[in-house]
Formats: sequence, structure tokens, C-alpha cells
Amino acid sequence: MSDARESQDTHALSSFAPMQISSPNLRAFLDISPDALVIVNQAGTIVMVNGQTEVVFGYARSELLGQQLELLLPQRFRKIHPTHREHYFAAPHTRPMGVGLQLFGRRKDGSEVPVDISLSPLLLDDALHVLSAIRDITERRLLEERERVARQEAEARLTLLQLILDELPTSAYLVRGEEARLVLANRTATAVWGAAWRVGQPMLDFLATNHIRLFGTDGQPLPSSAFATLHAVQQGETVRNHQEIIRRADGTALPVLVNAVALGRRLLIGVPAEVGSRPTDLVEPVALVVHQDVTALKEAEQLKDYFLGLVAHELRTPLAALKGFVTMLLTQTARGRGVPLTDWQQEALLEIDLATDRLDRLTKDLLDVARLQAGRLELRREPTDLVALCKRVIAQIQQSTDRHRLTFSTSLSPLLAHLDGGRIEQVLSNLLTNAIKYSPAGGPVEVNLLEDIERQEALISIRDQGIGIPKEEQAHLFGRFIRATNGQAHGISGTGLGLYLCRELVEQHGGHIWFESIEGAGSTFFIRLPLLQDTSPPSEAERTPVPKSNRCFEA
Ligand code: ADP
Repeated sequence: MSDARESQDTHALSSFAPMQISSPNLRAFLDISPDALVIVNQAGTIVMVNGQTEVVFGYARSELLGQQLELLLPQRFRKIHPTHREHYFAAPHTRPMGVGLQLFGRRKDGSEVPVDISLSPLLLDDALHVLSAIRDITERRLLEERERVARQEAEARLTLLQLILDELPTSAYLVRGEEARLVLANRTATAVWGAAWRVGQPMLDFLATNHIRLFGTDGQPLPSSAFATLHAVQQGETVRNHQEIIRRADGTALPVLVNAVALGRRLLIGVPAEVGSRPTDLVEPVALVVHQDVTALKEAEQLKDYFLGLVAHELRTPLAALKGFVTMLLTQTARGRGVPLTDWQQEALLEIDLATDRLDRLTKDLLDVARLQAGRLELRREPTDLVALCKRVIAQIQQSTDRHRLTFSTSLSPLLAHLDGGRIEQVLSNLLTNAIKYSPAGGPVEVNLLEDIERQEALISIRDQGIGIPKEEQAHLFGRFIRATNGQAHGISGTGLGLYLCRELVEQHGGHIWFESIEGAGSTFFIRLPLLQDTSPPSEAERTPVPKSNRCFEA
């Protein structure tokens, strides 16, 4: 061999650098491997196999030695395989076989086994051979197949859900994880938000990117912990009929009723987190959120409030005339002007006088409701002595009854607070009238006034021993037009507006109103009012009162 040729050969050998090994050493070594190992010579004859080959292919070692390698291949590959082998021997190097293809081996019983194969050149007893490491990947394939089926099923479920949701007139979307990452949203959702929410995008990121803000029923920005969607995924609790106002980037606002249904933590196992991504087996919370646009309902409510206000306003003039003339008739006749009235005429006039008073109160209440709804009820605060105020109202209400004994207890004199005296009188008068009205058998009505020095608040309580309020009806009693059934059963008339107005007026003063009641035993209403004027500068919301009708639906 010439020098040049020799160096060429050395170079060719070093390019694949086959392992050099002798047969006796190799056999024991092969049996250690968890893969089936098969060594063939250049002619494709099997010269050595390990124990695992027997396990994978079901042949005894003796049945394989001396056979063509193609024996271990499915029939359909047998013809072409010798060509592949020749190519390999022409340029041998370590590599996996059939990259990107699904490879199969054939067992003795004719069944096929999915395999991964990697090939390595080997100088065995100085002759070039190929070592095939064959790994049975049946388990892996099964797993992959199961994963594929699960993904297909999950995608089919999502596609069906998307189809259904897209047909809904309300906005609906599905989110996952504590950050509420979008899984899918219907077409209306994009219209409601005024922006498209990207699949996989966390809710807060979506809102911030699109300059969308959420407000509560009081017109104040909602903290994110109060978003119905986030609450459902973070607390795992379903939120029903949550009122939110969506303020979009273009400044338009949309009042919505949100239902966020917590669907548990296992629903989306196997569903990819984002389009095209691998299926995830993350166990994480999932929520279905439905937004109902309540603009039309709000408008109807506003119209109704406007109508109520208008009617109440228009009623005031004829009512004032009625009241004026009845009073004139009664007082002038009492002074001896004109013919004296008979008893029945006198009684009839007194009834008219009472009825006009009731009508007057009702129209005032309706006007107040309309003002509150429109955010036009303004307080005229000034230093007011609550002791004198309580005494005045009690004395006035006592005149309307002789079957109830109104008492007042306080150790204070005076107790100054910065408030609208007229409005607080209205609250107290309402609560006292109720205490009397709902104690049809008569009885004591006790008013108590305390000062909570630590909190700088006045605490007023009004206690009666009347019919009380059924427990199951107590929660909603401060709503508009809400009346307890036992009052109605006793034939006591009312509108269900008084307590609503009391709560609004007390809360506008920065106070709080609540009650305790036992049906059949009586009720105690409590009011807390701040004593000091709030000196902090008014917030944006306080400067421009939010119209109630823009704020929320009343129960
Ligand atoms: P109304 O005009 O019906 O009295 P309110 O708004 O003042 O309206 O009160 C709402 C309802 O609360 C009443 O209809 C009554 O059922 C109940 N209620 C209020 N105060 C009392 C009370 N002191 N005792 C028992 N029930 C009361």
C-alpha cells in the first residue's frame, strides 16, 4: 500500500472511529444492556445478539445467529433494507435510524413492535460490523397515543363549547389559573370589552394593555380582588349577579351583571394552555364567566325614576292646595267664622287632613328616591345638637299616639355633630313612626343616645316591643319597596321606601344603620353617625355624586 493510500485509509477509519473489540469480551458486555443489541456483518448476517433481543423478538439466540438481519423486519421493509444497509456500510457512523419515521420490528410470532434504533459501526475481530441498539417503545407509543386522543377530545370539547358560546347573545369566556388566563371567549365578549382578549393572556394584563377599567356599583374603581372573574378562580367560589361597570379605552361605559361560575380544578387537564402548545396536566382553577349587558334595564330604570320624580313633583301643587284649604276650613270655623260644622263634617275634614299629610309624605319620599337615584340629593350640614334633635322628634311623634309611650335616655347634653339636621330628623321620625306602626298593640318605644368617644361617633337606638321582623326577610329590608310579610298580614299599610331612605341618608352622612329583631318580640334599630366633620379633601367621587341609577340595580 502506498503511503498516500495508507494515510487515506487511516483518515477514512478515523472519520467514523469504530470501537475495536474482540468477540469473547463483547458477549458478556452486550447482556448488560436494557436494549436489544444485534451485530451484523457487511453481508447483513447476524453474528451476535444479546438476551434482550430474545425477549423483544421472541427468537432464541440460536435461531437468530447466521440469519439475515431482515428476519427482524416487517415484510414490507425487507426488500429495500439491504440497500439501506449497503449505504450505511459505505459511510458508517453512529446515528439514530430513520429519523422522523415510525420504526417497527417483527417478532417471531409475526406481530410488530414499535422500536427506536440507533446504529454504531464496530470493528469486531478487525472486520467492520454494525451494532444496532433496538429499544422496544411500545409503552411510550401507547402513552403518546393516549395523549393524542386526550388532546383531540379536549380540542373537540373546546370547539363545541366555542360554537355554543358564539351563539349566545351574552358575553361568555372561560379562564384558568389564579391569574385568570383566557382559554376561550365568544364573539360578544370582544364586543363587550371593546378589545380582543388573547388566549393565554392573564386578565389584569389584558385590561391594562387595553386601558379597560372596572368600577363597582358605588362608582368607585374596583380593586382587582373584587373582580367577579378573579374571585371565582382565586377563591374557588361562584359569584352571582355581581354588578360591574366596564369603562373602555374610548371612555364608553357598560353596566354589566357578571356571573362567574367556579368549575373546579380538573376540568381542563389535557387542554393546551395556549393555541398550539402542548397539552398541560396542570391542576388549576377554571371559571366560566358570563356578562349580561344591562344598559337597557338601566335606561328603563332611569326612565321609571324620572317618571316617579315627575309625578311626585306634579302632585305637590294640588296637594298643597288641598292641605291649605282643609287647614283654613278647620281653623277658620274653629274661630267662629262662617256656619259651624256638624260633627260628621268636622270628622270628614280631619280625615282629609290626615290623608293629605300621608300623601304629602309619600310624594316627599318619592321625590327623595328620585333625587337619590339621580345623585342630586345634597346634604346641608351644620353643627347640630343631637340631644335636642332627638327630643324634638320624640315629642312630635308622641303627639300622634296615646297608646305608645316614647321615652328618651341619654347622659349627654348637648352632643354636637356636623350634619343635615332636617335629614336626620327625617330618619329618626321614620324609625319612630315604624316603631309605633309595627307595635299595633301599643307599648313602650325607647330611644337611647350614646357617645362612642373612641370612634368619635354618636350611637342612637330605637327599641320597640312590636311584631318584629321574620328572620328570613331581614337581609333585604333596606331595599326599595321591600316590606316584611308579617306587617302586611297585620293589615299595616306602607310603601317600603322609609328604610331605604333612612339607609341612604345615614350612609351619605358617613354613618351606618342596622337592626336586630325577633319576630313577635320587637325590633331595635341602631344608627351610628360620625361626630366630627370630615376634614380630608373630598374625593373625585364625592365632588361629583354618582347618579344612583348609574350605580346599581336595587334589589
Ligand atoms: P313601610 O312604609 O312599609 O313601613 P319601611 O321602609 O319604613 O316601609 O319599612 C320596610 C318594612 O320593614 C316594613 O314594611 C316592615 O315590614 C318592616 N319594619 C320596619 N320597621 C319595623 C319595626 N319597627 N317593626 C317591625 N317591622 C318593621
